[in-house]
Amino acid sequence: MKENNVDARYRLPPKEFAEGYQEITYPLQAGKSLREVLMHTIQFFEKKLGKASCALLILDEDENKFIDCLSYSMEESRFDNLNFQPVHHQMGSFGPSVIRRELVVSSNILQDERWQGYEEIVSEQGLQSSWSIPVLSPNRDKVVASFTVFSEQQEEPTEEEVMWVEAYHELLSLMVNNYIATEFNTVKIPLQRKTPKNVEEKEESREDTVDNLIRIALNRGQFIPYYQPIISKDEEEMYGVEVLARWLHPEDGIKQPSSFISDAEEQKLIHHIDDMVFRKACIDLKRMMEQVNQTFRVSVNVSALNIMHPKFIERIKSVLSDTGFPPELLSIEITESALMKNLKDVAKVMTELKELGIRFSIDDFGVSYSSLNYLKYLPVESIKLDRTFVNDITVNAVDRQICKTVIQLAKDLKMNVVAEGVETSEHLEIIREFGCNIFQGYYFSKPVTYEELKYFLLD
Ligand code: C2E
Ligand code: CA
Ligand code: CA
Repeated sequence: MKENNVDARYRLPPKEFAEGYQEITYPLQAGKSLREVLMHTIQFFEKKLGKASCALLILDEDENKFIDCLSYSMEESRFDNLNFQPVHHQMGSFGPSVIRRELVVSSNILQDERWQGYEEIVSEQGLQSSWSIPVLSPNRDKVVASFTVFSEQQEEPTEEEVMWVEAYHELLSLMVNNYIATEFNTVKIPLQRKTPKNVEEKEESREDTVDNLIRIALNRGQFIPYYQPIISKDEEEMYGVEVLARWLHPEDGIKQPSSFISDAEEQKLIHHIDDMVFRKACIDLKRMMEQVNQTFRVSVNVSALNIMHPKFIERIKSVLSDTGFPPELLSIEITESALMKNLKDVAKVMTELKELGIRFSIDDFGVSYSSLNYLKYLPVESIKLDRTFVNDITVNAVDRQICKTVIQLAKDLKMNVVAEGVETSEHLEIIREFGCNIFQGYYFSKPVTYEELKYFLLD
């Protein structure tokens, strides 16, 4: 991607983005195969990019060689001699785009030595230039394909053309990943195949479906992080972000946590989702901090079940050491009810992780109306005032009083208070008057994708 050269002017307007999204995903809804859907997507880009010809070159699992090619207006067999050759720097624009993980332009194929030996791909159609963008896996840890655009002119792509492809990167990534998983069979977490025996056959098979759908989604890396900015009083710099899981569902699109978290908890799969989202967020945000030259706090949600998992501490440590994410920027959010369920054991886990510099935050505070007093004994750095109180602050005197009291008590205990669900300037004004300094809510930003967060930071 053009990571050092993001230009906010070229963000695709939401309406156009939505129309494109619908057009690309329409054949999915119609039950077409993923190959057909990808072909249709290529055709979509060819239309959007003018007279271009596009090709999608699929990589093997180790990013070593191209194993498949999809194209709509070019003969796919022209790419045959690429298949199963090791990917290298001197391989048109597609080879280097995979190795360098960025946009690579070849504005004059005949003069470009990287194209020597591959001219046959373009000669018959008289194509003169090419540019390639790597398609990353949904968790961005590897390249799964190269998307290449050819033109009959000797030219470089415009910002706008690159933007069209980048705007749908997430969707493309998900579809390619699913295509690879179905065509080349790379499923790793075994599916549960229970045979329903009793009268509750129907109910059981429904459970099987939910369970297996989540397992398949995990295998295909379909759980990804969205990011919601957290803003501090002076609003000059972003204070932090909260990481929120989304399921990039191949048919339903982006699914909210309310549609899968409780099922995942029930099926004891939540820790896989937590881990996947956490790992991706660490990779994304470490890189983003380097790019925008700014650090900020990162809050992740941890399910009550997960924090009691015997390997919880080990897993957190291993993600931090694998990704190099600084522990002192990490904050773990745990709900008040989860904490109260098992105070003693959770306290032990907290104390051990605190030694690494990790902080803790109590989520949805106020919902269970429990005492703030016990927090004195725990290494808790901040509390998050539940959004339902903040939301009703303008209309409900009781909620207003709760907000006021919680903020005052937290201050007495020298803790930070984050007000969630700040949606209007009135909310902000009242909560500020009560002495709250840190805010989160739609008034500032909804949870957004990696790219959108970067625009937010650069703006
Ligand atoms: P939460 O931790 O309380 O997260 C805040 C939720 O409030 C998010 O919903 C966010 O989109 C929403 N929100 C933020 N600002 C506003 C606002 O101004 N108005 C309104 N009405 N809502 C606002 P989301 O993303 O749907 O997440 C819902 C819950 O799912 C989270 O609540 C959290 O408990 C859970 N969750 C999300 N991601 C994960 C995860 O990776 N692991 C686990 N275990 N749970 C997660
Ligand atoms: Ca939270
Ligand atoms: Ca919350």
